[in-house]
Amino acid sequence: HTPNMRPVIRQLDDAAINRIAAGEVVERPASAVKELVENAIDAGARRISIDIADGGKTLIRVTDDGWGIPQDELPLALSRHATSKIDGSDLLNIHSFGFRGEALPSLGAVGRLTIQSRVSGAEGSELSVSGGRVEPVKPAAINTGTIVTLRDLFFATPARLKFLRTDRAEMQAISDVVKRLAMAEPSVGFTLRDVSGDGEGRVTFRADAVTGDLFDALRGRLGQVMGAEFVDNAIAVDAEREGFRLTGYAGLPTYSRGSAVAQHLFVNGRPVRDKLLIGALRGAYADFLSRDRHPAVALFVDCAPDKVDVNVHPAKSDVRFRDPGLVRGLIVSALRHALADAGHRASTTVAG
Ligand code: ADP
Ligand code: MG
Repeated sequence: HTPNMRPVIRQLDDAAINRIAAGEVVERPASAVKELVENAIDAGARRISIDIADGGKTLIRVTDDGWGIPQDELPLALSRHATSKIDGSDLLNIHSFGFRGEALPSLGAVGRLTIQSRVSGAEGSELSVSGGRVEPVKPAAINTGTIVTLRDLFFATPARLKFLRTDRAEMQAISDVVKRLAMAEPSVGFTLRDVSGDGEGRVTFRADAVTGDLFDALRGRLGQVMGAEFVDNAIAVDAEREGFRLTGYAGLPTYSRGSAVAQHLFVNGRPVRDKLLIGALRGAYADFLSRDRHPAVALFVDCAPDKVDVNVHPAKSDVRFRDPGLVRGLIVSALRHALADAGHRASTTVAG
């Protein structure tokens, strides 16, 4: 090393910073869809439509009827670390899906993003950003709510583009994301459309809003998403221990699968793939299933936001419980009891 070869330390510009952040937040089209649909849910939407072309590579459009963004705040929505969801002083008290203020600037850095939005009682407006370059705000004629259109995802990061799978595989991943979010929000209506090519497009998933008490609504929604066969072969679970509540439906051992595809776990309404929870599930079913079989479940752990840290990873699919042993114990014992009960009832029915 010769001393005069040393590169100087420079500040990266915003576009570069956003592209780097996007690498963590937006792995593939499905992660963009997740961020946009979560934003719609956070905005109190009752109906959310998702239009996709070419596996999300050329077009992702999410339309919601939530409370919208006022024109003067639109530029902030696109600026990094700007969020309406937390005030920064209490990272342990998170009630929304979002809180990092990173999704929209990241998407605008790696694709062509247009946000059209209107709050009730005001005119609509729109703002576009393409590869990190922001355009001036313009008026837009739309209904109350928000339409986010993302075209040419990863055009600005060709390396990432190369790693995308087939349109079909990307669409499948998008569909999985939408279905998981739909499970957690039975009172919101979802429509997923494939609008590739010309024509009207094709509805690939639809779940109308369901109402009723917690278990009625959940049962209805799980039927729409996982199928009637699942709900007919699942038992309702409702248990509580020291501030943690476990609710949902657990599939009977006779309805098990050869893989873990039908394991849906949620913490405070957030779909997660958490090792602790998956391990607890395995423990709970150990006496009822052989090792190569996997239960179908949709289970929801709810607790005060300060008992769990969702701030572990930008994609927020991992969580950290303050008391993991307690959560594991709750899941194992609640499911074992429910399954033993169901088995007992089944055997007495046969005997009688
Ligand atoms: P975060 O969700 O972490 O706050 P985002 O970058 O996803 O960060 O969004 C930035 C802000 O833009 C949000 O805090 C919210 O105020 C606003 N926003 C984004 N999407 C919507 C939407 N669909 N409806 C209303 N407001 C939205
Ligand atoms: Mg967000």
